[in-house]
Amino acid sequence: MTHHEYDVVIVGAGGAGMRAALESSERSRTAVLTKLYPTRSHTGAAQGGMAAALANVEDDSAEWHVFDTIKGGDYLVDQDAAEILCREAIDAVLDLEKMGLPFNRTPEGKVDQRRFGGHTRNHGEAAVRRACYSADRTGHMILQTLYQQCIKQGVEFFNEFYVLDVILDKDPQATPAGEEVSVTGVVALELATGEIHTFAAKSVVFATGGAGKVFKTTSNAHTLTGDGMAIALGAGLPLEDMEFFQFHPTGLAGLGILLSEAARGEGGILRNSEGERFMERYAPTIKDLAPRDMVARAMANEVREGRGAGPHKDYVLLDLTHLEPAHIDEKLPDITEFARTYLGVEPYTEPVPVYPTAHYAMGGIPTNVTGQVLRSNSEPVTGLYAAGECACVSVHGANRLGTNSLLDINVFGRRAGIAAAEHAATVASVPVMADDAASGVETLVATLRGSVGAGTERVADLRKALQETMDRNVQVFRDADSLEEARGVIADVKARYANVGIHDRGTRYNTDLLEAIELKFLIDLSEVVIAGALAREESRGGHYREDFPKRDDEKFLHHTMAYGTADGVRLDTKPVVITTYQPMERKY
Ligand SMILES: Cc1cc2nc3c(=O)[nH]c(=O)nc-3n(C[C@H](O)[C@H](O)[C@H](O)COP(=O)(O)OP(=O)(O)OC[C@H]3O[C@@H](n4cnc5c(N)ncnc54)[C@H](O)[C@@H]3O)c2cc1C
Repeated sequence: MTHHEYDVVIVGAGGAGMRAALESSERSRTAVLTKLYPTRSHTGAAQGGMAAALANVEDDSAEWHVFDTIKGGDYLVDQDAAEILCREAIDAVLDLEKMGLPFNRTPEGKVDQRRFGGHTRNHGEAAVRRACYSADRTGHMILQTLYQQCIKQGVEFFNEFYVLDVILDKDPQATPAGEEVSVTGVVALELATGEIHTFAAKSVVFATGGAGKVFKTTSNAHTLTGDGMAIALGAGLPLEDMEFFQFHPTGLAGLGILLSEAARGEGGILRNSEGERFMERYAPTIKDLAPRDMVARAMANEVREGRGAGPHKDYVLLDLTHLEPAHIDEKLPDITEFARTYLGVEPYTEPVPVYPTAHYAMGGIPTNVTGQVLRSNSEPVTGLYAAGECACVSVHGANRLGTNSLLDINVFGRRAGIAAAEHAATVASVPVMADDAASGVETLVATLRGSVGAGTERVADLRKALQETMDRNVQVFRDADSLEEARGVIADVKARYANVGIHDRGTRYNTDLLEAIELKFLIDLSEVVIAGALAREESRGGHYREDFPKRDDEKFLHHTMAYGTADGVRLDTKPVVITTYQPMERKY
C-alpha cells in the first residue's frame, strides 16, 4: 500500500474534473485520480452543444435562459443555482474560446449558435439559437481543450486509479447537527498493479459523472456506473432527486446510441408510421424542440397507440431527408455516420429509426452553489466538494435541458475547483487518515478475490437482471406495480450478489474484479431510484407515474433526500429554492 498527500484531490477527469483541476492546480498542490484516461471520459461523447445567451445570432438574454431552465426542470430547479448557471454561462464559453476551443463560427467570425429543445426567446415565444457548438463533437472539443490546458499547467494525473472509498473523520449520520464532519481523503485501487493507495487531502472533489448503466438501453458509456454517487451513499451521505432520470428521445432504435438533439435543432422532424409530424399535437408552439421529457413520452405514446414504425411498430422515425446533404455533412457528420454504421440507414434519403434511451441523471450528490457536499439539507461536509453529472446543485430539477450539462460541468466544475483550493489554503496541514482507512477496500477486494471458484453467481447475469428490470419497469412510464416489481428484482439481485463469483484472481488489470464492484454500485443506486420513484406519487419532468399523471405541487414541490441505512433507503425531503418564478402549468 502506498500513501500520498495533497492539498486537493479531484476524483474524475471528465469536463467537470478537469475544469476544477485548472482552477485548483493554479492555487494548490492538486492530484487528479481517474479510472479512465482523461480523454476517454464521457464528456468526449457529448455532441450537440453548450448553452449560453451570447446573443451572437439572434436576440437573447441570460434571464430567458434562467426561465427556460426552471420551466424545463418542471419547477424543481433551485432558482438561485439556475441564475448562477445562466449568468456565468457567457464567461464559461469565452474561457473555452480563449483556451482555443474550435467553435463553429458565424460568417462574421463570432461563435455560432443553434437551436435546442426548451430554449426559447421571451419566455416561450419561439425557439432561440443559444447552443454554442463544434459540429456534433462539442464535448470532444471541450475535453481535448481542457486536457491540453491541464498538461500545459502541469496537472498531476493518476490514470486508471479507481477510487473506491471516501474517508470522513466521523459518521455523518451519527454526528449531531452543528458538529463538524470533515473529509480526510480517498482510497483507490491502481488498475495496472492491483495495489491499494490512500490519498490524504485537505479538500476532495468528486467529479465522477453519471450512472446510465443502471439501465440496459442507454446512451452512456460502459464506465458510467455511478461510482461517486454510490461511494457517497456508502459513506453515510444523502443522494438528492435520484428518481429523476432523463430519457433522451433519439437513441438509435434497439441500441440506445445517441443521435444528438442537434439533429432536430438543425431542422430534423419526428414522424410516426403514418408520416405524421406528431409533436404538433403535443407541443404546438415549439413542436420537435419541446423538452426531452415531453418528446420522449410523446414518442412512447405513439408506439403504444399503434403508430410506431418498423416491422414490430416499436419505434418512430427521425426525418432529415428534407435537409441538404451538404448541411448534414457540415453540421451533423458524426451522428449521421452512426446511423449508417449501426443501422445501415442513409439519413440523406431515409428516415432514421429512433426510440428513447436512458441518458442523464438529474439527481446526485447534493451540493450548495459553491460545490460543497451536504450531509443534510443544509450542513456541508468540510473539505468535500462535488461537480458535474454526479452532483445535484440543483440546476436541472426534474428534467435537464439539452446543452445545460456541458454548461453545468464548466460553471460548477470551476466553482468547485476554486472553493476546494481556497479551503485547502486555510488548513495548516494535510489531515491524518485513520490507520484502518483502507480496511473497507481491502476487505472488499480480498472477498472478491476469494470468490474465484467459490461464488456461483456471475456478474454478467446479475447485471443483466438489474438492467432489464430497470428498462421494463422504471423507464419513461412508471406506476406502483412496475416499481414494486423492480424493487423485488433488485432485492433478489442483491441477495444473489452475496454469492457472486469472479473468475480472475490476478492483480494486474483485473477488470473482472472491478466490474463486480461496479455492479454493487449499480445495485445500491437502483434501490435509491426506485424508492424515490415509489414515494413520489405525482408526475414531474422525467418522472412520469401513470397512476398519478399530474404534477402535485401541494404535496411534492420538494427535493427527495435519500440516505442509505442498515434497514434500507430512508427518504427525507428538502425545500426547493424559489426566487423569481412561481410554478406554472408547463405548456410549449
Ligand atoms: C452521448 C452523449 C451525448 C451528450 N451530449 C451532450 C450535449 O451535447 N450537451 C450537453 O450539455 N450535455 C451532453 N451530454 C451530457 C454531458 O456530456 C455529461 O453530463 C457531462 O459531460 C458529464 O461530465 P462529467 O465531467 O460530470 O463526467 P464524465 O465526463 O463522465 O467524467 C467522469 C470522470 O470520472 C472518472 N471516474 C468515474 N468513476 C471513478 C472512480 N471510481 N474512480 C476514479 N475516477 C472515476 C472517469 O474516469 C471520468 O474521468 C451528453 C451525454 C452523452 C452520454
